[in-house]
Amino acid sequence: MKVFTSELYPLGLPVNHRFPAIKYKILKQYLLEENIIQLENLKESPLASFEELNLAHTDEYIFQMKSGNIPPEIMKRIGFPWSVDLYLRSCATVGGTLAASQCALVEGISGNLAGGTHHSHKDRGEGYCVFNDIAVSTRFLQANKLVQNVAIIDLDVHQGNGNSSILFYDPNVFIFSVHGEKNYPFKKVPSHLDIGLPDGCEDEEYIEALLMGMDEIIKFNPDFVFYIMGADPLIYDRLGTLNISFDGLMRRDRIVIRFCFENKIPLVLTLGGGYSEPIIHSVHAYANTYRVVNEIYCKT
Ligand SMILES: [Zn+2]
Repeated sequence: MKVFTSELYPLGLPVNHRFPAIKYKILKQYLLEENIIQLENLKESPLASFEELNLAHTDEYIFQMKSGNIPPEIMKRIGFPWSVDLYLRSCATVGGTLAASQCALVEGISGNLAGGTHHSHKDRGEGYCVFNDIAVSTRFLQANKLVQNVAIIDLDVHQGNGNSSILFYDPNVFIFSVHGEKNYPFKKVPSHLDIGLPDGCEDEEYIEALLMGMDEIIKFNPDFVFYIMGADPLIYDRLGTLNISFDGLMRRDRIVIRFCFENKIPLVLTLGGGYSEPIIHSVHAYANTYRVVNEIYCKT
């Protein structure tokens, strides 16, 4: 499977910044070293164009991010300092998911080693999300008449308020989220099916919630799936309020990935959050998702 990534534009964060930007580099190395992904299948993410971003974002917001002439309160909500590289990196994040989407239509599955920027709204970013990769990609696929029904299975521990605010009123999109009820965002924008779990929730309850939602996904009958494979429900996560084990996350991944495989639905994997202490736990959780992909897609 082809996987998109970009290391060309560093986030350029101050030394003690809370966001573990190093995880992208460690994950890529780990996936290659463990032969989970092969070098020839790792592709540089293209930069999303203005026209592409504009499918889900306002002209004004794109220009603000490009020029740096952006209200400080918006940058504060995003949580990263503005830089040209931040803008370019955010274009690559969207470009990676766009490229993976087109790849998945041909090959059945593809991924972005970034993305799942589900807190980004039409006219502003927040929560470490600048532009919304899945909203832009959904609009791109629709504009080119490549899909009918798009499902977004969002298993990041945080609820995807940006995806909901942009896509909720689209009858051809179904957003399903399992998240920590008490996790950010504190004011959630409803998606089509939200399951908010209590603090300290463990594997069994988590898998039960997922299975309940998958029944609704089956009824919706998607012909394209975006999966936000967040590593932040993990018990070791600094920001997540759930206590899910590595094994629980792999059981979760198997349910989503097998569903797409068995029903021949093109699937795009995006990372979502992961803030474990130490960060290697998040990297292992992400890598395990790709292990599950290999287990299911390479068996035949
Ligand atoms: Zn998250």
